[in-house]
Amino acid sequence: MTSTSSTSSADLFSRAQQVIPSGVNSPVRAFGSVGGTPPFLTSAKGALLQDADGREYVDLVGSWGPMILGHAEERVVEAVREAAGRGLSFGAPQAGEVTLAEEVISRVGPLEQLRLVNSGTEATMSALRLARAATGRDVIVKFAGCYHGHVDALLAEAGSGVATFAMPGSAGVTAATARDTVVLPYGDRDAVTALFAERGGEIAAVITEAAPANMGVVPPQEEDGIGFNRFLSETAHAEGALLISDEVLTGFRASREGYYGVDGEGWAPDLMTFGKVIGGGLPVGAFGGRRDLMGLLAPSGPVYQAGTLSGNPLATAAGLATFAGLDETAYSRLGSTSRALQQLVADALTAAGVPHVVQTAGTLFSVFFREQPVTGYEDAKAQDTEAFTRFFHAMLEAGVYLPPSAFEAWFVSTAHTPEVLDRIASALPGAARAAASA
Ligand SMILES: *Cc1c(COP(=O)(O)O)cnc(C)c1O
Repeated sequence: MTSTSSTSSADLFSRAQQVIPSGVNSPVRAFGSVGGTPPFLTSAKGALLQDADGREYVDLVGSWGPMILGHAEERVVEAVREAAGRGLSFGAPQAGEVTLAEEVISRVGPLEQLRLVNSGTEATMSALRLARAATGRDVIVKFAGCYHGHVDALLAEAGSGVATFAMPGSAGVTAATARDTVVLPYGDRDAVTALFAERGGEIAAVITEAAPANMGVVPPQEEDGIGFNRFLSETAHAEGALLISDEVLTGFRASREGYYGVDGEGWAPDLMTFGKVIGGGLPVGAFGGRRDLMGLLAPSGPVYQAGTLSGNPLATAAGLATFAGLDETAYSRLGSTSRALQQLVADALTAAGVPHVVQTAGTLFSVFFREQPVTGYEDAKAQDTEAFTRFFHAMLEAGVYLPPSAFEAWFVSTAHTPEVLDRIASALPGAARAAASA
């Protein structure tokens, strides 16, 4: 019954579509918005991917963020191998959990305690429950274009795959849940102020990406010297609500301290969420914050939250080995690689006359196919996604694997050497011309 002879990407995808909805286990992987068959990958090393058809690509997805040291980095692989030899899962405390929590807390000022989970989704879901318990309130405020995982309460006007497929939210979310979520335009201080004036006493928390990067990268703006995150923390706190800063994507990528290291002056979130980089490619998420809030978690407090595989020894080993590689030198390398790539892309698109804007948040960046800066979700949706699609396919054809969506950040790693950048540089002019040829 099972065919093992089908090994090309096309064969694998058609088999996958029989047994896995749309053939994928996460929507953006399906190439649904750009068309075509997604390559099935067989291995990866450094900045390079190999697919089932014998092709090689320069990777600019990095598993959507975790592979910040590049694929199959030797020390990370060795740490996982060594941990595996000592047992795959205990369901009981182990030292790696403590060391990983200490590492994360030591990097991010506002964190006093941290709990490990298995994904970013679990982290934000747990943070919402904790915020509601701490405040005795129900309403959650989120921003259009921000993605916080597939938590029922947070799917309205979400970024990432929800944006890629132009979905307003998700079916299957109850009306009661939807009623407790208020969605505001990102960066709109007047809307935040008005909402708090009207319903401040009902609001448990505001959740925001520390720097939105799931509608493309949209850095928070300052007004009168006050950043948007600080404004949110002051506005929420004045009404007894909490601020949850979602650093699942920006954490330990935007800088050594995450995006908080870029704009954490004069304010602090109450709770923060992490994922991606902290697991180095294995399934890890985390949420943390003030000790008094975290103390509400079971078993000492009334907020239940648990996980059979949370704090898994392989996952903590991968996370710790990844952090070991993330010193100041690594971040300055990431920064210069990111800037060099931004320049290459901008030069190629300019030469071909393609309207574009490159936006950054720390070492993160993305390219929007429109002229004007993007400050929120409406702007992001107004880009020329058709031009992106032509660009994407030309890059793929030339051996560069970009996120298959115009609404995603591009990810470099410390393994993206100048030689790797040269390969991208030689693919760019043709792809830029393809983008221009409507
Ligand atoms: C990826 C992401 C999540 C969800 O994490 P998963 O591990 O995919 O569940 C949440 N928030 C942000 C900002 C993300 O980028």
